[in-house]
Amino acid sequence: MRKVYTADSIAIAWHFRNVLEQHGIRSVVKNEGLFSVGGEIPINECLPEVWVEQALNAKHAESIIQLIENHEFDEDSEWFCEECGESNFASFDICWNCSD
Ligand SMILES: [Zn+2]
Repeated sequence: MRKVYTADSIAIAWHFRNVLEQHGIRSVVKNEGLFSVGGEIPINECLPEVWVEQALNAKHAESIIQLIENHEFDEDSEWFCEECGESNFASFDICWNCSD
C-alpha cells in the first residue's frame, strides 16, 4: 500500500479514487471515518487519504492526480496522445499513460 494523495475533503478523495479505478489502479480511501470523532485526533491525521494497493502503481496514480488537478484550473490546454488516445495537458511533454 502506498499513499498517493491527501485530500481536503472526502468528496475529493473519492473523486480521485474513482478516477484511479477507471484507469485500472486499485485504490482505497483512508481516514474517511475519522471526521466524526474530530477533536481527539490531530487535524492532519483526520484528512482523507488516497492509497494505492500496489506501490508499483503509485507513480502512475500521482501522474493521474496531477493531471486532474491541472484540469480543474486549465481545461483548454489538453492534447491527445496519438498512441493510446489518452488526454494530456500542455505541461506534459510526453503521454503520462504510455510515455510516447
Ligand atoms: Zn499515450
